[in-house]
Amino acid sequence: MKKNQTVRKRKKKNGFKKFWRLGLEEFNTQNFDIGPDGELIVREGNYQYNVHDLVKKYGSPTEIVFPTIMENRVRDLIETFNAYIKILGYKGRFYYHYAMKANQTKEFVLPAVAEGANLDVASANELYLVKRMIEQDKFNRKIRVICNGPKTEKYISLIEELKGKGLIVVPIIEDYNELERLKKFKGEVGIRVNLDIKVQAHWDKKFNRYGFTEEELLKIGKVRNLSTLHYHISKQIITIKGFTKPLKRALRLFAGMKEKNPGLMILDIGGGAGIPFEKKKHFYSGKSLIHQIVKTAKKECDKLGIRHPNLIVEWGSYVAAPAQITIYKIITEKDVSVKNHKKWYVVDGSFMNDLLDTWAIHQKWHVVPVNCMNSRKLQPVWFAGSSCDSDDKYTAGGDYIPMPRLEDCDELFVAFFDTGAYQDALASHHCLLSSPAKLIAQNGEIKVARRRETAEDVGRQFGW
Ligand SMILES: *Cc1c(COP(=O)(O)O)cnc(C)c1O
Repeated sequence: MKKNQTVRKRKKKNGFKKFWRLGLEEFNTQNFDIGPDGELIVREGNYQYNVHDLVKKYGSPTEIVFPTIMENRVRDLIETFNAYIKILGYKGRFYYHYAMKANQTKEFVLPAVAEGANLDVASANELYLVKRMIEQDKFNRKIRVICNGPKTEKYISLIEELKGKGLIVVPIIEDYNELERLKKFKGEVGIRVNLDIKVQAHWDKKFNRYGFTEEELLKIGKVRNLSTLHYHISKQIITIKGFTKPLKRALRLFAGMKEKNPGLMILDIGGGAGIPFEKKKHFYSGKSLIHQIVKTAKKECDKLGIRHPNLIVEWGSYVAAPAQITIYKIITEKDVSVKNHKKWYVVDGSFMNDLLDTWAIHQKWHVVPVNCMNSRKLQPVWFAGSSCDSDDKYTAGGDYIPMPRLEDCDELFVAFFDTGAYQDALASHHCLLSSPAKLIAQNGEIKVARRRETAEDVGRQFGW
């Protein structure tokens, strides 16, 4: 009798774990679990963090960064590319460049570099962070830095300065002005093509203003010190074909450019690897994506009769998003409409401020309770932010999100998953709400990377 009860209990517990989509590698939730008291647990090797205890101690809203997750994702990515290069007999080499714009926080960038990532920067200010990193003398100067974005004079002089310090800094030429200006540049350069192709992704690219058209490139022909052909299609590309189709097209262009530029050795296929934000549908795995990229590159090069180029990917979200969660407390509930029993759960932060893509690109998130996870009675809710803006909400695209009932819990915190990419740099101060605190969880310890802003802190930013 007693034994049976325990078995049933355990089953039930795993049932909750499955229900909240935790512990599943295909959804990048393998580090997450439910503790015995129905609380969200994050594991890092044999260390573990009880998220409910953390927010009780440090307050909410709060972002929690897990640098070890970032580290593991970068390591896996590089190892998987190298493994398929070997298995499939691809002759080129692989370089991973972390797109810093995904998250410039030190605890994202340093673990990536430590695991062998090179960098891709989008502005002079991001490159300045690389300079800081190098000056601290902690890293091998052999790392390569790709420089995207419009090249102001300030940007170019920083590129030249760092090149002088022995770093391999590769400016990517994006227009005729830069082409002219960078003729004087002594190191290798790249050039960006705006491929005439569309893929299923967030960004429909109807008016792409980045890089040269294929025609323009072929007309330009010879470019001094050209080592790299670069393109970037979109973010969150939703099928593997969205990678292989542009890749084939780019390789044909590569072959054409190579005739006049024998030093052209690298094809940089940009960012865009997606992650399963929603945790509902099947999504391609990183492994199958990488397999198909290497396989397609080899097949296409052999068909074209060209030497296999070295390959670069600049995936940002792919490594950064799963390394952070954002926690809110539910401060009150309201009826969506009196009839349908659906509730607004009002959080103590703001989607428009802290998770701006919720509003800007209708980003969907996976949301789980931080406590009360074993609650069996759930109700359908939408989340409302604390700003006065009617757009400050998360409705999962009109679906409802099942959450425990407030009357069944003493308090309720919720965690938004995969918030590590882009949200921090986009964050704002609508209604002068304070930004969330930022905690770093690593080696079993918690560090406060950004304390919660006081009214004074926020006021100061507006001249008060
Ligand atoms: C934004 C960007 C990336 C990173 O994109 P993800 O979708 O985060 O992988 C890479 N390269 C370029 C040029 C970009 O603009």
